[in-house]
Amino acid sequence: MDRKLEEFKPIRPGEVRMYTCGPTVYNFAHIGNFRAYMFEDLLRRTLKYFGYKVTQVMNLTDVDDKTIRDSRAAEMSLDDFTAQYKKSFFEDLKTLNIEEAEVYPAATDHINEMIALIEILVDKGYAYQAEDNCVYFSIAKFPGYGKLAKIDPENQGSVSRIKNDEYAKDSVADFALWKARDENDGDVHWESPWGEGRPGWHIECSAMAMRYLGKTFDIHTGGIDNMFPHHEDEIAQSEAANGCTYVNYWLHCAHLTVEGDKMSKTAGNFYTLRECSGKGYAGRELRWVLLGAHYRKKLNFTFGACAQARVALSKFSELFARLKAVNIDGDISEAQEIVNKAKNAFENGLADDLNISEALSAVFGLQHDANKLLDGNSLSKAGAEIILEQYREFDEVFAVFEVDAGQEEAIPAEITEMARKRYTARAAKDFVTADAMRDQLKESGWIVEDSAGGFRVKKIN
Ligand SMILES: [Zn+2]
Repeated sequence: MDRKLEEFKPIRPGEVRMYTCGPTVYNFAHIGNFRAYMFEDLLRRTLKYFGYKVTQVMNLTDVDDKTIRDSRAAEMSLDDFTAQYKKSFFEDLKTLNIEEAEVYPAATDHINEMIALIEILVDKGYAYQAEDNCVYFSIAKFPGYGKLAKIDPENQGSVSRIKNDEYAKDSVADFALWKARDENDGDVHWESPWGEGRPGWHIECSAMAMRYLGKTFDIHTGGIDNMFPHHEDEIAQSEAANGCTYVNYWLHCAHLTVEGDKMSKTAGNFYTLRECSGKGYAGRELRWVLLGAHYRKKLNFTFGACAQARVALSKFSELFARLKAVNIDGDISEAQEIVNKAKNAFENGLADDLNISEALSAVFGLQHDANKLLDGNSLSKAGAEIILEQYREFDEVFAVFEVDAGQEEAIPAEITEMARKRYTARAAKDFVTADAMRDQLKESGWIVEDSAGGFRVKKIN
């Protein structure tokens, strides 16, 4: 809100209550969305690492302009249409090793709470029913309107009304809390004191946040796109209804670009997580890339970076294997020293507004120092174990290292056979067969990679 760093002070000591705007379940989430969910996961894991009990609420927007529009185009009921994307959303979270929130309220399960909140706003004079039978929030009645997005509605001349869920800063207007049923809504409607209709998008989050986190809570996050109008409108509704501060700290993450360009369907660089996995990248490799930039800076997603992530993570795995093989008795002082240095740097980085580059250099620094001790044969078994333990601790936050990944899952004989056929076909420049084998492998859930003088197959997450 103040555009400056502040010391975080939770409302209840040792506890953090936070609300994160979740997916609108009208399609597969794309990597831009996942950038935001990754940042929220980093925040959540960091808070837990520092000992806070976290209650995170992430809503599922399963009724709004877009879900209704696309369910009708697909000739499906809203429930059936959104159910498939709810399911894929949770599968994608698993792929990226994103910890589950405590509560995932769906908007359609909380219509009563939304109606109750709108009733308070109408009773208090902040909202009115217009000639189109929709109920609007009157921004003129709420003096703080614009304080988050730093806009002054008075500079915009006369205030109009807007029914759409999404609109731009330069068309700031009274926004819809309740939308009267119209022909575009099909059979999506509920009874209300203002007639049949459905909630606007913004009131959904205010009502669900209040239901699970109370009138004032600690942290609200989202992508920078959510700041206006969505979060501005949430503040207006909630603070007008409750007469108290809605949220103490707002955190927004910046955009994601793909290969340097804004992601868009027309530019052909619009990727769902599934499409990235389909190119052979494991969840933890994509996670590593999405973690790579500070949350308030633009993140440039490239497939080159995914390939680099694979190399970086495999070097960590090599280090873990080396550490596990150490069998020398001896003291731990040198190991303890490099671990302490890395741990301090890691914690100082994360505590400083999630400074990811500092946290990452701590993790790489320990890798460098540990390899040096290993090269000099001066690391004891006990020392090696301390270092491994530190990586397990880093992984409470990063969740990429898989320090104790078990033996690779046994590869079925027919999978090895397909991979072998691909390898020989490729060597003979029979790319048709080679590609067909690779596709078959992918369909069976495996990816094949060339390695020095051979190939290896890996299970797709
Ligand atoms: Zn929201």
